Amino acid sequence: MTTRTRFAPSPTGFFHIGSARTALFNWLFARHTGGTFVLRIEDTDKERNTDEALRVILDGMRWLGLQWDEGPEAGGARGPYFQSQRGDLYRAQLKVLADKGRAYERDGAWWFRLEGERHLEFDDFAKREVEKVRAAPAVIDDLVRGRVERAEDRDFVLFRANGEPVFHFVNVVDDIAMGITHVIRGEDHLSNTSKHVELFRAFGAPLPTYAHIPLILKTDGPGKMSKRDRGALVEEYRARGYLPEAVRNYLCLLGWTPKDGRTVLPIGDIIAQFELRDIHQANARFDERKMASVNQDTLRALPPAEFARLATARLAAAGIAPPADRLAPVLAAAQPKLSALEHLPEFVGYFFSDDYARSPEALEGLSRKGGDPAARVREALPSLEAAAWDAPGIDAALAAAAAAHGQKPSAYMAPIRYGVSGQAGGPHFHDVLALLGKDRCLARLRAFAA
Ligand code: GLU
Repeated sequence: MTTRTRFAPSPTGFFHIGSARTALFNWLFARHTGGTFVLRIEDTDKERNTDEALRVILDGMRWLGLQWDEGPEAGGARGPYFQSQRGDLYRAQLKVLADKGRAYERDGAWWFRLEGERHLEFDDFAKREVEKVRAAPAVIDDLVRGRVERAEDRDFVLFRANGEPVFHFVNVVDDIAMGITHVIRGEDHLSNTSKHVELFRAFGAPLPTYAHIPLILKTDGPGKMSKRDRGALVEEYRARGYLPEAVRNYLCLLGWTPKDGRTVLPIGDIIAQFELRDIHQANARFDERKMASVNQDTLRALPPAEFARLATARLAAAGIAPPADRLAPVLAAAQPKLSALEHLPEFVGYFFSDDYARSPEALEGLSRKGGDPAARVREALPSLEAAAWDAPGIDAALAAAAAAHGQKPSAYMAPIRYGVSGQAGGPHFHDVLALLGKDRCLARLRAFAA
């Protein structure tokens, strides 16, 4: 059997990282098994169904490198891949159920008739329900959650009185028509699955294998990550200059752990190791710092020419366009230290202009921790002026200043860095001083000290 997975988003105008992780796990499993990854657009909600909302999803998936084998733009034998274009199939399949006695009309809506003994019927003007006791509950052998049993006790709507089909119905009709073998989706859908199992049974179709993947919790607190939380949208990382392969790598870690113990690894190695059975049951917690550190490790591992290409474009967009021979050594120093391309202009801008921004937060942090940074710079200046301008020479100058003023040599580093760059972070301290050169450093330090 060749596997067929699908990602079935409802376009909302956002591409939430939770949705992206669902798409990713479906894609990984299809690639791991040599199967087919289908993209199906569940656009039955006409209000939210806009071209823009669709574009956000398609662009986001392409950016993450999650190419689908069948779906919008890709085509395929089981299309159309938009639910809004599959109305004829839904009406035909409703008739199939009605002919089997498993669907009936009431008040203009079409209902699914559960099998089983009629237990209780009640009727009041607010609500009309038929309760049933089922002979056997729906059993879901979920690859992540284990065996889940749940009995549906009420008939449920398939088509509303306004003629619109309901999610449960179209979802199952399409999974059957598209030959989906594995349904991999968020745990919030587990409660729907008993209805889906009833529908598969009523159609006489084999059940897909289910894998309900854990929720993503926000960084702090018990809640689920929502689209309003910082860091929740794929498009945000793209705008901030995160590397798509780093975002994808981090999303893999939300509910799954590579067996070989690495957390940053090439996608081919992830595909080779990815098994649905290894997905965690426990909820995953989103950790923005971990995401940044995966991005930093991925940036560091880029071939220098690739880093230079991305960095040059990022700097140019910020109006920083030095000649390549001046840029190259600066980028070589920045690459191992940078957490995201979004920080690059502050990270290196001061190498190319004396008119660079000084971070007020960095200054405040310095003053809070080590006292007046300008005072430290004044203490260090005389020995720096006499120093040989290499790492041992500068270290010796700091040691001399420290001995004379009752400080630790390290107390001078952050104030000096701030004095020459206006920043709290950046390339290695000695790289910054060496790349700027002695004259420029001393001029900036004198101006800062004054
Ligand atoms: N359209 C549903 C959603 O976005 C799909 C659920 C499923 O994967 O079955 O949540």
